[in-house]
Amino acid sequence: MLIPIIGLEIHARLKTQSKMFCSCPNVSDDAPPNTAICHVCTGQPGALPAVNDEAIHLGVRAGLALGCRIPDESHFDRKNYFYPDLPKGYQISQFDFPIALAGHMDLDIPGNEPPRDRIRVGITRAHLEEDAAKNIHDPKTGKTLVDFNRAGTPLVEIVTEPDIRSPQEAKYFLQELQAVLRAINASDADMEKGYMRCDANISLLEIDDKTHLPKHEGLNPKVEIKNLNSFRAVERALAFEVARQKKLFAKKELPAESTRGWDENTSETFEQRLKETSSDYRYFPEPDLPPLSLAKIREEEKSHLPELPANKRLRLMDEWGFTDEDARYLVANEGWADFAEEVMGELGAWTETAGKKIEKKKFAKLAGSWLTNKYAGLLAQKNMALSESDVDAENFAEFLHLVNDGAVNSANAQKLLALMVEKTGDPSHILEEHDLGQSEDPKLVKETVARLIKENPGQVAQIKAGKLGVIKWFVGGVMKVTEGRANPEKAEEEIKKQLGL
Ligand code: ZN
Ligand code: MN
Repeated sequence: MLIPIIGLEIHARLKTQSKMFCSCPNVSDDAPPNTAICHVCTGQPGALPAVNDEAIHLGVRAGLALGCRIPDESHFDRKNYFYPDLPKGYQISQFDFPIALAGHMDLDIPGNEPPRDRIRVGITRAHLEEDAAKNIHDPKTGKTLVDFNRAGTPLVEIVTEPDIRSPQEAKYFLQELQAVLRAINASDADMEKGYMRCDANISLLEIDDKTHLPKHEGLNPKVEIKNLNSFRAVERALAFEVARQKKLFAKKELPAESTRGWDENTSETFEQRLKETSSDYRYFPEPDLPPLSLAKIREEEKSHLPELPANKRLRLMDEWGFTDEDARYLVANEGWADFAEEVMGELGAWTETAGKKIEKKKFAKLAGSWLTNKYAGLLAQKNMALSESDVDAENFAEFLHLVNDGAVNSANAQKLLALMVEKTGDPSHILEEHDLGQSEDPKLVKETVARLIKENPGQVAQIKAGKLGVIKWFVGGVMKVTEGRANPEKAEEEIKKQLGL
């Protein structure tokens, strides 16, 4: 049997005000080209770098969140290579004294067979470095332009141990890492925007089918897939590489130790170059920067490290009764977990005032589905972030109460929620104003049911013959006539009553 041995290297752009070694603003990639540059980040002769303190803090915080040891001292090195997007001819990075060492991240992998449904991925190290500029290839002129805005922006590079065993596990790791980096406010970690990029190392290991032990010592040559910029690309590129390497093994060949790219269009990896080793980069200590003292920063960051996503998910499930799936969504998306907790708090207050018992699980299920499914969908449709919506937790809780008490049916509840986003305000007022409530007009329901039964003898016969599902057809009829204001459960009762069921 062949099993994949996968390790990842992730670069995440740190969310600082200014660049890593100069005071240029750390702007987004859609800022006008070459508007956030200076003599330092364009590598002019004689320009001197100065360390951005904020970047050190964020890097140390990321290291702590990943369970790493933060050494007392760390320093920068020059990594030499020649490329048009690297104006100095070297990148300031960290080689043998990184800011963070030997951490780990624990993951739940739903759907994996135990024991791999809970895995621990080791973090080898995390270090700080500057990003390169961006080459822009213009297909019209055939020329390549360079935008230096990105040159010198601060990155944290995170390297994992080869503890990952499938493309799916790799995807889960990255999603969790993204959630961690966002939770600690170190990076937006948006893969599509290039704020988090991933290189994946993969080799296959031959395992004895009976003993489950490796058939030989050491690992086979590994392939590095460079610059994967979406979760999907990571998963697909790794799956392709597993299949490609398996075919080579079947022919008794080994893959070449190499660097490959991922072509989204052909869904294939392709060879870029044979792998360079660290000696090719001629690393040496950066002479223009003093060593970093990390002890004070480490203690400071440790003292206010926010709650991490794994813990938050557990709390949402234990404390509030949310499902695993809802908890995942709420924690993975900015602001949603806090909002959900506020809503649940308000719900509790409401129920207490009303003198009802709190049915935690039931409310969590209702809240979970209206939050992660319908409200999130509604905001996505309007291209709005949660923070851009004026619906506050109190109004959302009141809305859930209206739904729970049957004051509004689910079709009209959707409309009500949309109106709450548009108009802002108290849901019961909007409900009244737009006449979306369930009418307590039992006479109309009674009459409608009687008429529908009279007009549709065929359907009545079907019900009498035992096809009870047809009752729903009548309910639908009642809802149509009452323009969605009837209570479907009460309508169903009335239909059964009139049919003598
Ligand atoms: Zn600059
Ligand atoms: Mn790097």
